[in-house]
Amino acid sequence: MDRERVRELDRIVLGEIWTSDEAWRNLVYLCDDLGHRFAGSERERRAAEFLADRMRAYGLENVRLERFPMATWERGPCHLAVVEPLERELPAIAMPYCPTAQIEADVIDVGEGEQPDFERLASEIPGKIVLTDAETNRPGERKSHRTDKFNWAVQRGAVAVLFVNRNPGQLHITGSLTGRNPNGTRAADREAPIPGIGLSYETGQFLRRLAERGRLRLRLATENRTLDAESAKVIGVIPGTTRPDEIVLVGGHYDSHDIAQGAGDDGAGTVVGLEVGRALAQLRGQLARTVRVICFGAEELGLLGAYHHAAQAAARGERIRFVLNLDGAGRGTGGQEQLVLSGLPELVPYFQALGRELPYDFAIRDELNAHSDHFPFALRGIPNATLSSRDATAGMIGRGWGHTEADTLDKVTLRSIQLAAALAARFVIRFSEDENFPGRQRTPEEVRQQLADAGLLERVRATEGPVI
Ligand SMILES: [Zn+2]
Repeated sequence: MDRERVRELDRIVLGEIWTSDEAWRNLVYLCDDLGHRFAGSERERRAAEFLADRMRAYGLENVRLERFPMATWERGPCHLAVVEPLERELPAIAMPYCPTAQIEADVIDVGEGEQPDFERLASEIPGKIVLTDAETNRPGERKSHRTDKFNWAVQRGAVAVLFVNRNPGQLHITGSLTGRNPNGTRAADREAPIPGIGLSYETGQFLRRLAERGRLRLRLATENRTLDAESAKVIGVIPGTTRPDEIVLVGGHYDSHDIAQGAGDDGAGTVVGLEVGRALAQLRGQLARTVRVICFGAEELGLLGAYHHAAQAAARGERIRFVLNLDGAGRGTGGQEQLVLSGLPELVPYFQALGRELPYDFAIRDELNAHSDHFPFALRGIPNATLSSRDATAGMIGRGWGHTEADTLDKVTLRSIQLAAALAARFVIRFSEDENFPGRQRTPEEVRQQLADAGLLERVRATEGPVI
């Protein structure tokens, strides 16, 4: 790699990114004008058309929407009430893929809801409503995911699960539930077998105080619909010159939950990806490999767009050199970016050296996880990483404002978008130009070992049957 030439390319993209507020204006449209971009909804469709339009305006080529079948979900009323030891209506929301249900049952509190908690209380769970913390991890910490807890509750005979937000502020937590058949794409497959309900921290604490008095009994009535629908990925390319058949894939997911603007998760990452495309389009005819900018659809309902794209890329025999996922990139005030690799130790020194070369400080972790759009590519052995930015309120638990009503535009800044876009664009230039890039395709056997090392093999076998 000719370092002087690469630095010259850097100057062009950095100049472009630091002299424009285009990315911010795109985010304003996605958040304030559309409001939310729930997968399969009319608003997600309008967002896709807007993003494709922007890509064309920036000079990306072969811009297209790749549609795929999926199941969407429509929220209806949700009434939760204490019936014993006192009577009280509680604020509560159904979570995506929650079925219609009317239930009255006693509550069993599993606390943080880690697997040992479910095992210890297994005999008390059948027929009960499980009360559990949603996510309890502090930044950099690893704890069980909402869907793990939901699955453990279903397997042990719970009749509903109440998820408690760990961050105060009367904010309901949301997140999609696992369906009866996670391998299917139709509504009948995706609808959850039992209700999952999101509660605020304060409501959760109130219920736990009541539970200390003895028997706690609740009544739940919720009406929701899971429907067959369609989502789309938005794609545009900057064609490579000498190795056009090798692809560098970069982008975030443009869909969001329905209770907020989805500014940080992942409106910000979407406009960071678009900004990378806009800046790199200035280098057309100068990059060796093809850069494919992608905006994934339906991430929040189970990484559906990324699964579809990874399968299509494999069916087309495409050679993807690297996937840079931007879920969470550009949030907050900037300057606290981190790159999480998927069990690729040879890339840690590579990125450390890159940090010194740029020079720009960012955190690097190597830890395979299953919870964003990089994962379907990791399952196929494709080298990948997720770039994210801490939000302004470092220290919050789990996703912070994410997956609550407070994930709004005021939690993002242009500066953070610019810092993430500058870093991502410079990464992508190197993934394209570096002939000695050390990332390499894993064999299926190596992927199985990576999953086993990360404790994910059982989960993947249960939910991703045909892939592994
Ligand atoms: Zn996300």
